[in-house]
Amino acid sequence: MKSYPRLDFHVHLAGLGNNGTRNFISSGTLRSLLFVILRMQLGILSSHRKNRFDADYARKLLTDFTRAQSAGFLDGLLVFAHDQVFMDDGSVSGCQELFVPNSYVFLFCERHRSQGLFLPVMSVHPYRLHARKQTEYWIQKGAAAMKWLPNSQNIDPGDKRSEAIFEILEHFKIPLIVHSGGEHTVTNIRPKFGDPRLFRRALRRGCNVIFAHCGTSSGFLDFNWLNDFAALVKEFPNAWGDTSALCSLGRTRWIGGLLSDSDVAVKLIHGSDYPIPPICLPFFRNGPGFKKALELQAVSSLFARDVAIKREWGFPESHFSKGWELIPESAKKGIVAGNWKKSKPSNF
Ligand SMILES: [Zn+2]
Repeated sequence: MKSYPRLDFHVHLAGLGNNGTRNFISSGTLRSLLFVILRMQLGILSSHRKNRFDADYARKLLTDFTRAQSAGFLDGLLVFAHDQVFMDDGSVSGCQELFVPNSYVFLFCERHRSQGLFLPVMSVHPYRLHARKQTEYWIQKGAAAMKWLPNSQNIDPGDKRSEAIFEILEHFKIPLIVHSGGEHTVTNIRPKFGDPRLFRRALRRGCNVIFAHCGTSSGFLDFNWLNDFAALVKEFPNAWGDTSALCSLGRTRWIGGLLSDSDVAVKLIHGSDYPIPPICLPFFRNGPGFKKALELQAVSSLFARDVAIKREWGFPESHFSKGWELIPESAKKGIVAGNWKKSKPSNF
């Protein structure tokens, strides 16, 4: 039986622009409670004061990955760029919170290729000038997917500029990873764009669309599109869901339902949403119990912990390699069979 690389399909790079990276995090976002918690758990709380934030973040990500890889949890990562927010008229919004340029992500993946299977994911806002040309450019450079966060980046999937990008993605067989459901890490400026049903046109056209978080709500006031997501993956063979941030306080409650519907479970692709810390909650029905939860919580690599918790919840091993079939051939150039470090399975 063929074995495929185990991939984490949802990984964020971030930075403040140190050493000319052009990364950006607004000072309000950097000092928000969520980001302070994230910085603390990554061990980079004061890196920004020494102009080392970008390098320290990247180093921590690599360390976490190497630990997960050597313990047999993962073979590779899909690493996300994050484009700016654009207004409907195509101008750059005055309110930017997060920016991770494609050039930084592609360079990172290229530079660390020998350490694991790092696949760059482009982010091109469809309203930006020359969006089509840029999309084609990054596809030629080997983009493994496109990532959009429609409700925070102000992307209307029904806009003709979005449809122009769908056309390119379909032509080159590049999957589109879209955030679906509630959003709390950055401001949710257009909550209704979290609705997965808005991507019906892209699906009808034949694009592979991966709905991050499966349309689930996180906060208790979020709208929950889980049932609509489930209906879409049953209707369209090219509709998928990623399991990013499901091991979190707000979303663990949806895991049981997703796994119990076999038609939905086979459409799920592993993603962690790094650096969001995975949490093992012991008190749900069929949950792992308190002792096991503590043991899982002690796994230091965030990548490994997310996989370990999911294994405990009953995600099959195929879940972790399922995404490989969606990686376009253009991104697999140079990755011949067996040319990825296959690590031994272990119980960490
Ligand atoms: Zn994410």
